[in-house]
Amino acid sequence: MARVKHESRWYPLESEESVLDGLLRQGVAVPSACRAGACQSCLMRALSGEIPEAARVGLKDTLRTQGYFLACVCKPIVGTELEVAGADALRVPARLESLTLLSESVLRVCLSTAAPFDYRAGQYVSLLREDGLARSYSLASLPREGLLELHVRLVPGGAMSGWLASEARIGDTLAVQGPAGNCFYVSGRPEQPLLLAGTGTGLAPLYGIARDALESGHTGPIWLFHGARTPEGLYLMDALRELAARHSGFHYRPGVLTGGSRDVAEGALDVLIRAECPKPVGFRAWLCGDSGMVLSLRKKLFLSGLSLKDLHADAFLPSAPRVEPVGAR
Ligand SMILES: Cc1cc2nc3c(=O)[nH]c(=O)nc-3n(C[C@H](O)[C@H](O)[C@H](O)COP(=O)(O)OP(=O)(O)OC[C@H]3O[C@@H](n4cnc5c(N)ncnc54)[C@H](O)[C@@H]3O)c2cc1C
Repeated sequence: MARVKHESRWYPLESEESVLDGLLRQGVAVPSACRAGACQSCLMRALSGEIPEAARVGLKDTLRTQGYFLACVCKPIVGTELEVAGADALRVPARLESLTLLSESVLRVCLSTAAPFDYRAGQYVSLLREDGLARSYSLASLPREGLLELHVRLVPGGAMSGWLASEARIGDTLAVQGPAGNCFYVSGRPEQPLLLAGTGTGLAPLYGIARDALESGHTGPIWLFHGARTPEGLYLMDALRELAARHSGFHYRPGVLTGGSRDVAEGALDVLIRAECPKPVGFRAWLCGDSGMVLSLRKKLFLSGLSLKDLHADAFLPSAPRVEPVGAR
């Protein structure tokens, strides 16, 4: 059996149980969301004891060297004694500055932070409510813009999106943790064609990345494909068309599965991409949004010649069902 010490109390872990599940099962409140090693909401710090390498995959070196790990995928080997602490040191208080509907189902959430928050456009943060509810959201803003801008899809019955849409008030205090993720523009190859593709609020990071690339003086073509089921799922169309009017190298292509029109193509996202960029060899690409779409498009682009090192992806994994403490079941 492995044991975890948290705030001076020891908690036994069951066989093959993760640190997160073990602590939640025994009533310790640890923020978490996807519980699959992707969203980084459950970051914890090891004060002593051996952390399996699998619990550190995808973490920045600065976090690794300080002992941070992902509690949801941390399954210590039998006999391990681990002393852990939360990731409070990585959190910055944030004030809710505005809530604006971008469409029927997408809310723009703007936050100011109480301390400088260093990030690259397109990365994501964990947003934490005061009671510990945590969800990850990608950054649509550019650092120079001051406020952090998130695009939150309104999920029926959604704990965070529902609260933001109906209960949150301007001036409320939350916290942001991060940033995380490798979906951001790196200058150095200004002529390289760029391909940005996403569905739904997968547009958020792409909107940041495209503007960052343009402001950094990128000269190669930039293709932005935004897909939705129906035209109601598209948003920021005017802003993106304006951007395209100002930059001849920027091509905005909205697409829907049904209900296409003169301005909005109809068809699956990969088909629309193939029609405009049939041979993406030498491109750099970013794929964001629904996890099924991201995985399948990543594979298709790789098979059509795009190098894996030039393929960046953030799959918006949904939250996993809550683990109730034993006594509460
Ligand atoms: C790296 C990363 C970045 C993300 N960036 C964004 C972003 O920029 N914008 C954004 O809107 N979301 C983003 N997400 C998803 C976000 O973190 C939440 O999962 C989402 O907002 C739902 O949270 P909620 O509390 O409103 O709903 P929850 O209370 O978590 O969900 C309510 C119910 O709906 C289900 N559900 C939720 N989402 C889905 C889905 N997509 N497919 C199927 N079932 C679902 C849940 O499993 C649950 O049963 C991101 C996720 C990750 C991992």
